[in-house]
Amino acid sequence: MTTNFQFNFAGNSNDICVHTTSCRICGVANDITLDFNSYMRWYNGEGLIQDIWPNLAADQRELIMTGIHPICWDKMFS
Ligand SMILES: [Zn+2]
Repeated sequence: MTTNFQFNFAGNSNDICVHTTSCRICGVANDITLDFNSYMRWYNGEGLIQDIWPNLAADQRELIMTGIHPICWDKMFS
C-alpha cells in the first residue's frame, strides 16, 4: 500500500483535503475531501476501507487506495 499521502485541513471543519498518489495510468494526482477521523482510522489500519466509508462508491475507494481514476481503469480494460 502506498503511504505517501499529503493532506491539509480545509478551513475549520473536520474535513481534510487528501492529495493521493499519482494515477499510474495518466500520471495525474487527485485531491479528495475526506473526514479526518475516518481517514486516520483507515491510515492506521483500524478497519477495512469499505467499513470506514460504506457510503463511498467502489471507484472512489479505489481512488483513495491507489490514485487510479475510474475512467483510467475503463481505458485500461477496454
Ligand atoms: Zn488517471
